[in-house]
Amino acid sequence: MLVYLNGDYLPLDEARVSVLDRGFLFGDGVYEVIPVYSRRPFRLHEHLVRLQASLDAIRLANPHSEAEWIERIERVSTAAEWPDQGIYLQVTRGPGPRDHAFPQVIQPTVFIMPMPLATPAPALVEQGVCAITAPDDRWLHCDVKSVSLLANVLARQRSVDAGCAETILLRDGWLTEGSTSNVFIVRDGVILAPPKSNLILPGITYDVVLELARTLELPHQLRPIAADELKRADEVWLTSTPKEVLAVTRLDGVPVGDGRPGPVFRRVHAAYQDYKRRVMHGA
Ligand code: PMP
Repeated sequence: MLVYLNGDYLPLDEARVSVLDRGFLFGDGVYEVIPVYSRRPFRLHEHLVRLQASLDAIRLANPHSEAEWIERIERVSTAAEWPDQGIYLQVTRGPGPRDHAFPQVIQPTVFIMPMPLATPAPALVEQGVCAITAPDDRWLHCDVKSVSLLANVLARQRSVDAGCAETILLRDGWLTEGSTSNVFIVRDGVILAPPKSNLILPGITYDVVLELARTLELPHQLRPIAADELKRADEVWLTSTPKEVLAVTRLDGVPVGDGRPGPVFRRVHAAYQDYKRRVMHGA
């Protein structure tokens, strides 16, 4: 397995960064996880656009053009043993004296690594997963895909401790997203999700799901969702690159709807798989 680090392609265990790297000292960096299905990157342009938005938000110049990113990602992806991958890509503000202020001279650290992409097993799709809710105590720039993930890490661990797949976050009584995913609900046949804002990550899968809802002519609406609506939803779904679309069938120990993945989920999940297949075949 080859990784890319600052201009070199090398084995993972030979990749080294400075302990003065601001990613290590301050979490001063951003990242992306790009799915590759049967060695074809999925929504690569959209991921690179989001990367640019994250870099802009933290005032770090993009070290590469889109063509350069694509070339590097393809080289790492081609060398990886698995046909389905999550390409992890990270840019930090690089090494410098330990000072919160930006260094005078910035040498960003660029790291690209392939990971096996573990999409949900069919049994999990059939049964759904459990989730818990917790207060969203993150900062107010959750639209930035920052490597400063401590609040997400702690939130995710709460669901691990509870034996569940995800922690769904509520800010001041309103649904934001999961610790590592976006959240959709269905009420009375209408798909609902919080609109994009500084309080959620603009998920690439979130966009795909909304496009599919449009194509399938399923009623859908982006609007704030109160905690109470989440708790009384007929269906709750998680979306993310590795989870794709996954039904939550128990929330805080209580069955969601009849406790099985719902009919709207089934339609959207099937459409998502169809769409993926078309991408894999080069459509
Ligand atoms: N929200 C958060 C907090 C996430 O970490 C992720 C996964 N990166 C998502 C949403 C989903 O984003 P995507 O669909 O682009 O994987």
